[in-house]
Amino acid sequence: MIEKKIKEVILCKYGEVILKGANRSDFEAKMLKQLRLRAKRIGNYKIFYAQSTVYIEPLDQDAIDKIEEMTYQAKHVFGFVAVSRAFACEKNMDTILEVVRTYIPERLKGYKTFKAEAKRADKRFPLKSPEISAEVGGAVLSSVPKIKVDIHNPEIVVRVEIRDQEAYIHAGQEKGAGGIPYGCSGKGLLLLSGGIDSPVAGFMMAKRGVELEAIHFESYPYTSERAKEKVLDLAKQLTNYTMRMRVHVVSLTKIQELLRDNCEEEYFTLLLRRYMMAISLKIAHEYGCEALITGESLGQVASQTMKAINVTNVLADIPVYRPLIGMDKDEIVQISRKIGTFETSVLPYEDCCTVFTPRHPRTRPELEKVIEQENKLDFNALVNEAFENREAVVVMAFKDHKSE
Ligand code: ATP
Ligand code: MG
Repeated sequence: MIEKKIKEVILCKYGEVILKGANRSDFEAKMLKQLRLRAKRIGNYKIFYAQSTVYIEPLDQDAIDKIEEMTYQAKHVFGFVAVSRAFACEKNMDTILEVVRTYIPERLKGYKTFKAEAKRADKRFPLKSPEISAEVGGAVLSSVPKIKVDIHNPEIVVRVEIRDQEAYIHAGQEKGAGGIPYGCSGKGLLLLSGGIDSPVAGFMMAKRGVELEAIHFESYPYTSERAKEKVLDLAKQLTNYTMRMRVHVVSLTKIQELLRDNCEEEYFTLLLRRYMMAISLKIAHEYGCEALITGESLGQVASQTMKAINVTNVLADIPVYRPLIGMDKDEIVQISRKIGTFETSVLPYEDCCTVFTPRHPRTRPELEKVIEQENKLDFNALVNEAFENREAVVVMAFKDHKSE
């Protein structure tokens, strides 16, 4: 009898979006769009919001069967701080307790301590929150052998929420992706290499609502086709969060050969980075990106000292975001493991920056000296040529990527 009244739903709780005023509905629309894009590829779900929560309701058996997959997807949508699978039932205490006894024990398997927490959004409900908690706690104790209450440091929390339409009961709420809904902060161009840092930098800005466009520089045949595939794989992993991303692939082969043949070796990297900056700016302007994003971290390598960063930064007429600038490598690695890019990043393929690297790179370069070297070639013409010869690949979650 009880089965008929119960449905399992996914609750996604807002983070900072709660603090938004007039434009809150724009933020909500973006979060719903992200969820709907994902749901469309998984099954038949009804998605709606009320009271600072988005509800995802399976509409048929197939959608119920795939609820775990849908929950996984919801955890990758920026803007939600918590995601949980809950049982929805009618708002009376008998039904609520029956649900607790029937469904919650399975969720508490392996846990030794818990606490019950109730929230009564609907103030007309006859019991107050502490009374609901006490009854729910009692129901758990009587239906789960050996489990104990620990108010201060429970291993798991059993939550009951009395909302406008229904009551929701859940245990083991998981962390959401946090941040600001994807696409709410404008568009940025991510300089994506095959390393550990730049995918993390992209993730961090996407988390702050920046829609990502990416650019990758290659140096074929000095860098291989597999090195490029690796970068597209990294982009694909980022689409777990963004759903879709365009990667512009630009060849630096000719520029690097000319630099090798015409300029002083100790300036190679800096000169190359100025080309990368100039080409990136052109792409950013062409595709409406309001900032560049790099994975630079201060002092990590010779080209990331203050002076060296300044040599490239002076070219920029839009902000360059460097979310990793103050982070240590192990902190960056931690995030890269969490977002799933680490294993791919450490695959040993060459990067264009490691082709013709100087034996003694300049760590405190003087800008005039760099420009003096740069003037040995026609900088603007080479930038334009590389830009014109770019290739674009669209990378999509759930699908194979395709060239544009
Ligand atoms: P990463 O781990 O991201 O490769 P890194 O520590 O190897 O970074 P560098 O190679 O100096 O550092 O690169 C600094 C930043 O410049 C990168 O984080 C990335 O944003 C950009 N970059 C470097 N190489 C490329 C490339 N081949 N294509 C696009 N961007 C690049
Ligand atoms: Mg690198």
